[in-house]
Amino acid sequence: MPLSTSLLKTSAARLGFSACGVAPAGPVDDAVADRFRRWIAEGNQAEMAYLGNNVEKRLDPTLLMEGAQSVVSVALNYYPAQQLDASRQYEFAWYAYGHDYHEVMKARLTALAEALLANVEGNVHYRVFCDTAPVLERYWAWRCGLGWIGKNTQLIVSRAGSAFFLGEIIIDRPFDAYDHPVKSRCGTCTRCLDACPTGALGEPYTLNAARCLSFLTIEYRGDTLPPEAARAMGNCVYGCDRCQQACPWMRFARPTEVPEFLPKPEFLRLDHAALQSLSIDDYRHIFRGSAVKRAKYEGLMRNVQALYRLHHQVFSANEAEDGNLIIFI
Ligand code: SF4
Ligand code: SF4
Repeated sequence: MPLSTSLLKTSAARLGFSACGVAPAGPVDDAVADRFRRWIAEGNQAEMAYLGNNVEKRLDPTLLMEGAQSVVSVALNYYPAQQLDASRQYEFAWYAYGHDYHEVMKARLTALAEALLANVEGNVHYRVFCDTAPVLERYWAWRCGLGWIGKNTQLIVSRAGSAFFLGEIIIDRPFDAYDHPVKSRCGTCTRCLDACPTGALGEPYTLNAARCLSFLTIEYRGDTLPPEAARAMGNCVYGCDRCQQACPWMRFARPTEVPEFLPKPEFLRLDHAALQSLSIDDYRHIFRGSAVKRAKYEGLMRNVQALYRLHHQVFSANEAEDGNLIIFI
């Protein structure tokens, strides 16, 4: 007996998901698989070596869960109601304002699966995922009809923007109706490519992680940031939203109503001086349960120091663009 797509969608809406769709499980399109393999072979994943592991599973969710018949994709809004004040505060990526999304998304996905299966007889197996396993999340969101993948590589939900966490349920039952992919509505626009300060979006739909501030300020473990990145930070201390901010579809974004994503007052008070003098104890208190923990204290403070040097035009020798402008420290 197929599962009800209508029950899935009404349950997803009741649980606060902004979008939900479902598609048959199976290998991703050949063109997408070829593109992903080429992206890995060219080294665009930078130091995120895990992206090159389990490639076959990543390209076919039926290898990830035996008997998989359907993939459900959902989007959960993280667009903040109140943003940090760039005149006196360093910017954090919007997604990191509140509680770590992994736990929040996993709990809601599990609640969605339970609502869907409450009156279903027999053994049904499913797994929930949120950035926790080799799943091509944006592909499946597109495939399930949630939106299209923009030139900035983000999943764009029509008339809602791209500030969404994505999650999936892979399940061993068919549904009574499946969704269809949405056509790209990027058109001739190139605003995201023009807004990127590092050239990480050298060509549409392709991200070079090694040049991207989101990777460099969060995942990169070097003691100092690469000089080109340090010079391009602008005001970004953790992550970067510039290719999202530039997108005209973001004008439709509405503030999240997910309570866990509301920032702590201590976070909203973090100005330049407070961050520059942040102790490890303050860090542990303010960022407890936050995605910012990913960069660790050392990584965050490395970024704070790089921004201080950038804003005060005080560069170390390796950060200097040329030998003239700089006070060496
Ligand atoms: S997150 Fe920032 S650095 Fe990375 S591609 Fe977007 S604009 Fe460029
Ligand atoms: S800025 Fe323009 S090209 Fe880039 S993702 Fe948005 S609509 Fe597409």
